[in-house]
Amino acid sequence: MEHFDVVIVGSGHGGAQAALSLRQAGHAEPILLLSRDRNPPYERPPLSKDYLSGEKPFERILIRPEAFWNERGITLRLGCNADTLDAEAHSLILSDGGTVTYRKLIWAGGGDPRRLSCSGADLAGIHAVRSRRDVDTLREELAAGARQVVIAGAGYIGLEAAASLTKLGCEVTVVEALERAMARVAGPELSDFFAAEHRAHGVDLRFGTSIERIEGEGGRVARVVLSSGTVLPADVVIAGIGIVPAVGPLIAAGAAGSNGVDVDEFCRTSLDDVYAIGDCAAHANAFADSQVIRLESVQNANDMANVAAREIMGERTPYAAVPWFWSNQYDLRLQTAGLSAGHDATVLRGDPAERKFSVIYLKEGRVIALDCVNNTRDYAQGRKLVEARAVIAPDLLADAEVPLKDML
Ligand code: FAD
Repeated sequence: MEHFDVVIVGSGHGGAQAALSLRQAGHAEPILLLSRDRNPPYERPPLSKDYLSGEKPFERILIRPEAFWNERGITLRLGCNADTLDAEAHSLILSDGGTVTYRKLIWAGGGDPRRLSCSGADLAGIHAVRSRRDVDTLREELAAGARQVVIAGAGYIGLEAAASLTKLGCEVTVVEALERAMARVAGPELSDFFAAEHRAHGVDLRFGTSIERIEGEGGRVARVVLSSGTVLPADVVIAGIGIVPAVGPLIAAGAAGSNGVDVDEFCRTSLDDVYAIGDCAAHANAFADSQVIRLESVQNANDMANVAAREIMGERTPYAAVPWFWSNQYDLRLQTAGLSAGHDATVLRGDPAERKFSVIYLKEGRVIALDCVNNTRDYAQGRKLVEARAVIAPDLLADAEVPLKDML
């Protein structure tokens, strides 16, 4: 049995940042960074963007060079799953048969991609876009001649994958059960703009319909049948339909949680000495009127990692960061600040026809979020409005001649 001062489960954005933050804060005891992924910590956003399109090699998406972790006294154990947690004994049983004990445990397990549940969902040629392995397998199939792609889900990942695959010369159809693109995270102005851009690039977008079944030939995907009755030929299907938080061992050990695992403002779970961060951590978020939510973003994973590391080092700082996110599709850079859910009005700033504009979301007259397209200045300045929940007249917000920073 090996002992580590801190064991971190998951070497994605949250786990890697937690190890870095501990070292930066002067933590000098042994740290174990454990992951079922076989690769050293890497960035996930490029998986649907320039890693998928082949513009960035794997070495350029590493969070740190491979040798870095060892040099900092951080033991990387890859291709190894944390199977069972005994919270009282402060121990974890691993899939390689080993057991490790800890003083503090940080759970940064992220999520497993939600799988399609229709008939034919187990055929070869159906992919998620969550890990390097997912994308490498998909790219191998494209290299072998796959061209007709059906993507389930018009959220960020589905649309980014559509843009990257279109660049590679694929024929892409996106199937979305809701009536518009990115419906859960953006207002109709943004959805309509992105839908038009995708169509202009040749993507076939189908809203208000879903995949009824997938039919195969020789064990491989051959066509997709939609609930509308439409039949789409397909060599490859991609499921971009969200994640299931990877918290099984935590919940089995008694941690509170229903959608992921519950944490307080210091990222502590209900189990002693166990923290949870990133995609799997459900927390009361000040930018969602203190509703308990999970955020799936690099910002959230990194900021929660900092909070947990500081807490372990005895410096209490509650989690209170402004949520932010980005998405790249074609030559469009979308940057968002705040959370738009629950808005009761929107203000359009700039002209979508110029492909540079912002949508500002208001709730009871206060700025709660911004979506900025090719408009980094608005994004940088608007974050402060979100932070202040500023009350500003909609007419003034709409005046793109007046910088947002002058409105506070
Ligand atoms: P992850 O990065 O998912 O890491 C979790 C790790 O834990 C995984 O390696 C997993 O294998 C491992 N694990 C899970 N359970 C166990 C276990 N029991 N034992 C051992 N290991 C385990 N965010 C943005 O802000 N902007 C973007 O543009 C953006 N684009 C994205 C594109 C894609 C394709 C994807 C998949 C995500 C994107 N995100 C983006 C979201 C962002 O990457 C995630 O929010 C972030 O990676 C969350 O970090 P995490 O540490 O919580 O989880």
